[in-house]
Amino acid sequence: MGALHHRLWQGRLQGFVDGELPPARAARVRAHVADCPDCAAELELLHRMKGAIGRLGTRYAGEAAVERLRRRAEHLGP
Ligand SMILES: [Zn+2]
Repeated sequence: MGALHHRLWQGRLQGFVDGELPPARAARVRAHVADCPDCAAELELLHRMKGAIGRLGTRYAGEAAVERLRRRAEHLGP
C-alpha cells in the first residue's frame, strides 16, 4: 500500500464524499476503506473538510479550516 495506491484512490474518495459516484463504484470505495487504514483516514478527513466548508459557507474561511484539519489529520497518520 504505497503512495501511488493512495493517490489512485484519492480522486474516488473525493467523489464518494461529494456523492458523485455511481452506486457500484461507491460500494467499491466503501469496501476498500474497510480494508485500507490510509484511505479510511483520508475519507474521514474529506468528510470533515466538507462539513467544515459547508458550515463556514465562504471559500476563504473554508481554506483556513481545511488547513487546520489537514494539520490535525497529520497527527492521525500512520
Ligand atoms: Zn487505500
